[in-house]
Formats: sequence, structure tokens, C-alpha cells
Amino acid sequence: MTTTLRPGMTSASVRVLQQRLKAVGTFDYPKATGFYGNYTREAVSQFERRNHLKVDGIADPAMQALLAKKAAATKAPAKPTTWQTAAEPAHDYRRVNFRGVTVNVRTQQMLLRAEKYAKAMGVKVPFGLAQGSYNPGGVTQSGGTHDRGGALDIRTRDHSPRGVVLMVKALRQAGFAAWSRDARDGFSPHIHAVAIGDRQLSAAAANQVQSYFAGRNGLRNNAPDRDRATAGRPIPNWARRYD
Ligand SMILES: [Zn+2]
Repeated sequence: MTTTLRPGMTSASVRVLQQRLKAVGTFDYPKATGFYGNYTREAVSQFERRNHLKVDGIADPAMQALLAKKAAATKAPAKPTTWQTAAEPAHDYRRVNFRGVTVNVRTQQMLLRAEKYAKAMGVKVPFGLAQGSYNPGGVTQSGGTHDRGGALDIRTRDHSPRGVVLMVKALRQAGFAAWSRDARDGFSPHIHAVAIGDRQLSAAAANQVQSYFAGRNGLRNNAPDRDRATAGRPIPNWARRYD
């Protein structure tokens, strides 16, 4: 129960009152002293006037409640995390069976992030996974990139060409070196993604990450990154240190 605060009092509650009056801009004494003197009385009066309360310079419970609400509203809302400012996912290398493939928890978290970004762009989620990590010799065409951690192949057959572009974009925003692959590269259509910074990447996958940073396609021909023109190459801040 809030008690009425009035001139002459000294208390911690008066100090809080002064801090809140400061927040709403009516208390200009340099310090919240905890003493309810003339400055405080004047600041309370000004607040009361501004808010059409009875102007008496006394902080009754109703006045204090309104002040608390208004003072809280002046605080800047916390800046929402964006794909750029998102923290690096934890280096959690426990293996999980996820949508029919094996990945580590870090890769899984990154994929879920990418799906969140993709969904916001209107892309159908969840993505279907065609190949995961820790799959040595599983798919010859993959050239060993899926032998260890951080690698994923994502199905694209249920998506429009525009949808595939946005999937690549979202995967890149989440910190994957990701490319759309198709017949031009000798593959059936899919997206190949490698988690940047994964400590269990195979040597081949690690090379692909460097190729990605260099604006190339991560394939043997080391051709230019074809997706760059459509999806851009958005790299979250945390991933840049692996360049
Ligand atoms: Zn792949």
C-alpha cells in the first residue's frame, strides 16, 4: 500500500518519487536527495497541473501511481535483436536427430533462426532436410562437406524460385554459407548450407566457408556466387570474425 508523501518527509520513497519526477521532467534539482522540500513540492505540483489532478504539492497514492506509469513510459524500449545483431549461437555440439537427419544443436539453432527470418518474409516453413551432418561418404557429390559438423542440405522442390532466393537469404542472415544448387552445378535442386564458425566442420566444408566470404560458390570450379545478385550476401555481425 502506497502511503502519501508530503513536504518535510525524508525517506527512500521520497527518493524514488524524485527520480520519477526527474524522468517525467518536472524535477530539476541535480540530485534525488530523499528530502521532500520546496523543489519536490513544486515538481509534484507541476506534475499534478499537467495531468489535471488536484494541485496541492502532495504526493497521494493516486498521484504516485500515475507518476510511476508515466515515468516507466519514458524509458526507451529495449532494442529488438535483428539478424545483424543476433548473438552467436552457443557452441553446443551434441548431436540431435532432427527431421530425419543428424545435426548438432548449434546447426539446429541456426536453422530455426533462418526459418524465423524466412517466415517473416512469407516463405513456407519448416524447411525439409535432405542431408545433415556427420554423414561420411553418404553422398558422393557432396565432396566430403557433410562428413562432419555444420552441413545441411535443404529441399527446395516445394518452393517457388522466389521462395528459394528468400530461403538462401534467410540462411545467410542466420550465419550459414548457403547456396542454391541445381542442374547447372550438376546437382538436383537443393540448398547446400554450412554453419559458419562450426568447430567440427570437415576440411572441405571449412574451405567452402572461405569461398563464401570470398564471394565464390564453394564448388570445385570456384565460380562467382550466383545467389549474390538475388539474395545478397547478408552476414550477421557475429559471423564476420570467421572471415
Ligand atoms: Zn550439401
